[in-house]
Amino acid sequence: MKITILGTGNALVTECYNTCYVLTSEEGHLLVDGGGGGTILVRLKQAGIDPNEIHHIFVTHKHIDHVMGIIWMMRVICQNMNAGKYQDDAYIYAHEELAEMLLKLAKMLLNKKEIKRIGERLHLVPVGDGEKRRILGHEYTFFDIGSTKAKQYGYMLDLGEGRRLTCCGDEPYNERERKYAEGSAWLLHEAFCLDAQADVFHPYEKHHSTVKDASMLAEELGVENLLLYHTEDQNIARRQELYRAEGEQYFHGSLWIPEDLDVIEL
Ligand SMILES: [Zn+2]
Repeated sequence: MKITILGTGNALVTECYNTCYVLTSEEGHLLVDGGGGGTILVRLKQAGIDPNEIHHIFVTHKHIDHVMGIIWMMRVICQNMNAGKYQDDAYIYAHEELAEMLLKLAKMLLNKKEIKRIGERLHLVPVGDGEKRRILGHEYTFFDIGSTKAKQYGYMLDLGEGRRLTCCGDEPYNERERKYAEGSAWLLHEAFCLDAQADVFHPYEKHHSTVKDASMLAEELGVENLLLYHTEDQNIARRQELYRAEGEQYFHGSLWIPEDLDVIEL
């Protein structure tokens, strides 16, 4: 499998797109989150991924830097279904409250012809805490990350041969995620900024982590690869170099600090 990173930034970035990405197996693409707007379509185009080839989408939580791009995807998918350009059905997985919210938003924001496809060919699929689903040849286990801000789900993806990828969403790891995250081949975790710049960016006030926090966590959980995202963008020109220098002091596996549009083999 491979991961195509569409965006790497936190909610208010202007130098990159908000954090979202595509997981691709031999059987197709799963989009995770949509970022904050129509730029999702730009990034997909730049990545060479046709929106008509995306039939599975997972949404972590209702913050606008994750959800508004999904509304654009719903529009494009429904519009292209109507135009005969989108084959087969589309599935959007989210926890129940979020699935209901997406349905409400779509009904308020999309046009009648588009809305008609929802429930008919575009399916909002509620997933529960610990629920497993087989998607595009791989098993995903969705779980509640225990957010105190807005209910948020992460997931564990079975990569095969005993290897797992665990996504903790965009909040700091919570002990309830240990059974998924511990020993994972890949851990996707947020890092708002460098620990050395915590007094500039105030990650803890926003309930986020630093590169040091995430790196120490990954070391303790014994993961092989740590991928950091949902970062500030003021250091973007030197982000990889700076974050790597801090993170490698605490984590001895492989540290990944992607740029928008990076493609990584899992
Ligand atoms: Zn976010």
